[in-house]
Amino acid sequence: MNKKWESVIGLEVHLQLKTNTKVWCNCSTDYDSDEPNTHTCPICLGHPGALPKLNKKVLEYAIKAGLALNCKINNESTFDRKNYFYPDTPKNYQITQFDNSYAGKGYLNVKVNGKEKQIGITKIQIEEDAGKSIHGANESYINFNRASMPLVEIISEPDMRSSEEAYEYLTLLRNTLKYTGISDVSMELGSLRCDANISVHHEGEPFGTRVEVKNLNSFKAVARAIDYEINRQINVIEDGGSIDQETRTWDDETQITKVMRSKEEAMDYRYFPEPDLLKVIVTDEKIEKIRETMPEDIVAKINRFIADYKLPQYDADILCLDIELANYFEEVVHESNNPKASSNWILTEVLKYLKDNHIEINNFPILAKDLGKIIELIDKNVISSKIAKKLFEIKLGDERDPETIVKEEKMAQVADEEAIESLVDEVLNNNPKLIEDYHNADEGRKPRVLKGLMGQCMKLSKGKANPKMVTELLLKKL
Ligand code: ADP
Ligand code: MG
Ligand code: ZN
Repeated sequence: MNKKWESVIGLEVHLQLKTNTKVWCNCSTDYDSDEPNTHTCPICLGHPGALPKLNKKVLEYAIKAGLALNCKINNESTFDRKNYFYPDTPKNYQITQFDNSYAGKGYLNVKVNGKEKQIGITKIQIEEDAGKSIHGANESYINFNRASMPLVEIISEPDMRSSEEAYEYLTLLRNTLKYTGISDVSMELGSLRCDANISVHHEGEPFGTRVEVKNLNSFKAVARAIDYEINRQINVIEDGGSIDQETRTWDDETQITKVMRSKEEAMDYRYFPEPDLLKVIVTDEKIEKIRETMPEDIVAKINRFIADYKLPQYDADILCLDIELANYFEEVVHESNNPKASSNWILTEVLKYLKDNHIEINNFPILAKDLGKIIELIDKNVISSKIAKKLFEIKLGDERDPETIVKEEKMAQVADEEAIESLVDEVLNNNPKLIEDYHNADEGRKPRVLKGLMGQCMKLSKGKANPKMVTELLLKKL
């Protein structure tokens, strides 16, 4: 009775590589910014007799993806034809890697709710993208600019057990790959796409039949689709039904999955070796050479941030998760020369703004050097940290540089002895009771009374008096 359900998830991720030319020909990969069907040639249009040739850069980038994901890079691999008819596939087959892919087993160590879990990667294969169909009311168009764009498909093991694990895997996968510089890894731009395989079974029993869900347009959609599917499948089985191995599509509008292809309609791709491409041979020396050209990875950057900037692990972890945030931090420090303060500002004010406005760091309105200047102004006692927050707010929508704003808006701290003295005198003159209170207070209460007086001075100066000088003068006069 009431046996516990378990769910199993495996993800297939397609990644578009940022090479200049397509995978088998010299056509530009800049497929979206030009007129349709201008970046095409007999090879990517699949004309009879046109021969594909593997782009060396594609292989290099693919190997970098494999190395970043801890995959075994195979010394030999081959290409296969996956046959199916679809209007946006001019050859009526896709060139991909079936049995002998260039990269084998790998893994990512994903953190879920504070616990680390290893998610296996089965293999990665090089393949080509299809063209794009555009459907109007009464007609359809095809744009072949995207045909034969270079892709790698990263297939995970069925190692995930929840939508949270899938979400964290995808996030780490994206962030890790972004570090390599081989792809934009953007779901929005279509350079990262994900299909999810989901099944359910009773604890202690073999895995259930998997359903593949396509058309997932964000990481959130992936997580929602997984949760929806787990529920749906459990309900079907508990109602006495069974799950068919089918392909479903996620409908973002209604937040449900719908059947796209049933088992009966499943394609038989009649895979066979691609006769027009040679086998790919990659020597160990070549792999090592490519490894040497890989930029610093997440772990190395975190360690460097801790060693060089003396940041706590916590700060370094958050800053380095996104390479662009890490770069932003380094630019801020370059100007501020104060790593910890720079990190504090980014971890609080900047990240809050990004979250509230649903934007990424590269769209953040304050340039790194300007945030660095704001921090420097605090350190030089030109402004207080309270005024700095105000300056930050202004700077979010102001082109002027921070120093100009401080000057023009008269935000500079008053550090002039005479000015502060007259301020302190005024407050003391207006508060004889507080003075009396101060003198009668015991040592425990004295600081609190002083704080009250101090607050009045700051208020009178509109927050601009140098707090240290105010305190010193108050103490002297009291
Ligand atoms: P296909 O050719 O159908 O796309 P792939 O081998 O490319 O198959 O991908 C299969 C995916 O399904 C892998 O990510 C794998 O981890 C996952 N998978 C395999 N078995 C199960 C299962 N029982 N439940 C959930 N996912 C599974
Ligand atoms: Mg697949
Ligand atoms: Zn071409």
